[in-house]
Amino acid sequence: MALKPISRIAAGVQASTTLVIDSLFKQMKAEGKDVVGFGAGEPDFPTPEHIKQAGIEAIENNLTRYTPAAGLMELREAACYRLKTDFGLEYEPKQIVVASGAKHSVYIALMTLCNPGDEVVIAAPYWVSYSEMVQQAGAKPVIVAAGEEQDFKITAAQLEAAITDKTKAFMLNSPCNPTGMVYTREELEAIADVCCRHNIYVIADEIYCNLVYDDIEFVSFASLNEDVKNRTIIVNGVSKSYAMTGWRIGYSASNPELAKVMSNYLSHSTSAPSTISQHAAIVALKGPQEDMQVMKQAFEARRDHLVERMNRIEGVSCIKPQGAFYVMMNMKNFLGKQMYGKTIESAEDFAQLFLEKGLVATVPCTAFAAPAFVRWSYATSLAEIDKGLDRLEEFIKNA
Ligand code: PMP
Ligand code: GLU
Repeated sequence: MALKPISRIAAGVQASTTLVIDSLFKQMKAEGKDVVGFGAGEPDFPTPEHIKQAGIEAIENNLTRYTPAAGLMELREAACYRLKTDFGLEYEPKQIVVASGAKHSVYIALMTLCNPGDEVVIAAPYWVSYSEMVQQAGAKPVIVAAGEEQDFKITAAQLEAAITDKTKAFMLNSPCNPTGMVYTREELEAIADVCCRHNIYVIADEIYCNLVYDDIEFVSFASLNEDVKNRTIIVNGVSKSYAMTGWRIGYSASNPELAKVMSNYLSHSTSAPSTISQHAAIVALKGPQEDMQVMKQAFEARRDHLVERMNRIEGVSCIKPQGAFYVMMNMKNFLGKQMYGKTIESAEDFAQLFLEKGLVATVPCTAFAAPAFVRWSYATSLAEIDKGLDRLEEFIKNA
């Protein structure tokens, strides 16, 4: 007998493009192929020594039992300390909910806010998981596109035009994955004004807040005013700032009512994030921040080099991102053209051929709603960046 159909929502979930490419890259490497990776966005640096030690000590001191669902009090205090020190934001520990990575924080924020049929506005290009998570929450993603000519940033007027009486929330990501763009204070104020007038929530994913270059100001959305703060769920975490992607710790800051619901939700799903990782995260947030500055400087130098060289390569171009560790390579010149006997219909075709023939892993931005772009993560060494660009030149020349 045929089994009954599974959940319609679950059946509709697509695998994460970034993670699929990352595992393909790692598999090719394991098979001994000389492949260069610009796929998944994760720092290539090891987790700083003092943070690793905190994890080791947690194990040695038998700090290996369950914690409260919303995380250890000391970790929630550490998150409050960072929000206050870095952005002047006042939160109490009861407003902080620790989750198993910032991705998980976004997920429970959406689960907390959305009813079936609600709409959530997403600014495109957007990180691939946003639209999937909105749908997992039973809501509908409404995509508002910002092209390269507007520095990939949507305007307040575009946001307002997308709002209907079903709109529940707006997802803001600054600095943005995949574009690296950072919204200015004025731009955020105009967006905040729209959100307040239309009474919508904002999920402000600020995971790349520490990776902003050229002395550009990063403004935390909740810092704009009290009304904005009350309707905003800030998402942050330790993955990118402290090279801790595998430790799986993210957190949110919101009004206490939302935080309570998110914590209840966690109490029946994960119970709490890994205790060992939480102890390491306390030290990351409260300890010395110098390692982060060193990584940031390295990212900035890599960005400068990558952007400068990429723009000298015939056929492709990119604008200079201001933060995070991604570059959007414009490959529209190749759309509809033949390469290696194949017609390039999309960024996906290009990225696939580039991996196959050029042995370079990049992420096609089709799943980020930017089909004429390929994303390069420059969270890798200058030597690897040069190797990747050399191969891009060859790949285009020999096509
Ligand atoms: N938000 C954005 C914009 C990201 O790029 C990522 C990348 N992983 C995350 C959230 C999730 O981070 P984490 O590894 O902490 O889940
Ligand atoms: N956020 C990173 C990326 O976009 C890591 C992979 C993922 O979780 O999507 O590549």
